[in-house]
Amino acid sequence: QAKARGRGNFVFFSEDMNTRARERLMLESKLKKAIENEELSVFYQPKMEMYGGRLVGMEALARWVTRDGEEIPPTRFIPIAEETGLVGPLGDFVMRRAARDCKRWLDMGHPLRVAVNLSAREFLDPLLPERVDAILAEAQLPGEHFEIEITESMMMQDVEQAVHVLQELRARNITIAMDDFGTGYSSLSYLKQFPIHTLKIDRAFVKEAPDDPNDVAIVAAVLSVARAMDLKVVAEGVEESRQLALLRDHGCDELQGYLYAKPLNTDDFTQFLLHANAHGARQLQNLPASR
Ligand code: C2E
Ligand code: MG
Ligand code: MG
Ligand code: MG
Repeated sequence: QAKARGRGNFVFFSEDMNTRARERLMLESKLKKAIENEELSVFYQPKMEMYGGRLVGMEALARWVTRDGEEIPPTRFIPIAEETGLVGPLGDFVMRRAARDCKRWLDMGHPLRVAVNLSAREFLDPLLPERVDAILAEAQLPGEHFEIEITESMMMQDVEQAVHVLQELRARNITIAMDDFGTGYSSLSYLKQFPIHTLKIDRAFVKEAPDDPNDVAIVAAVLSVARAMDLKVVAEGVEESRQLALLRDHGCDELQGYLYAKPLNTDDFTQFLLHANAHGARQLQNLPASR
């Protein structure tokens, strides 16, 4: 691509690339140490059931705060981990923490399901089912409390292998969610082939709803397809009760977003958990109509 721009531009462009490459290299070595030094942590964002307003589960999200207090967002370090060999150790770390914490909450009497995000490399790794087995066994967490979030583009990279892995995971009672639905190469005909349980509507569509009629139409269409295919739908990025009302009117099953909570550390999540089941239902009552 750089060459196609001609010689003059090539020099300029490659210098820019050098700077970025250097920055990446630095971040890569910092990330490697961060994993070893446990600078990484896992936060949990609650998922609420639409009817009844109960807390049903949470999404595990990786967090990195460096020793100098700099917060590096996952959208920056996950791609680097993916391109270097670090995605395996990082993924194991997140899955172990998630399984361990979920088991602790289960032992406290709260049967929740924890969802972890996988990157393409991990998902298409033929050893993934065994890795998950080992992690769940170590944590003594039954598969029905574990969920995996993957994106459509990841499944499309190798459809046959994807279907195989999904079947292996399903056989362990693990829930499978398609993340960021609608933003990738979504092909409804492929959707039929993947043995998934849940669609997560991407925040991009929830954000402008109910003001943008196109987004309202997309949300309604996804919910109607999902219902016909017997899939559960979780909406991401729910920030306002107007969005909630719209999603309720179209039959969305679960909700995740700042309206309820931001991703929380384990202590804050425990506090949320103790209050949510007592008071959660109240939020969803007396909602205004969306139309
Ligand atoms: P995602 O899986 O789609 O996760 C949802 C993202 O939306 C999270 O961002 C979450 O904090 C954010 N979010 C949730 N509700 C709201 C809301 O109401 N408003 C707004 N503005 N944002 C909301 P986060 O934690 O920065 O993660 C970004 C992405 O990084 C994730 O998108 C996921 O693709 C990736 N990621 C995070 N942790 C991991 C991990 O452990 N492994 C892998 N492979 N990817 C991860
Ligand atoms: Mg996710
Ligand atoms: Mg998502
Ligand atoms: Mg998303």
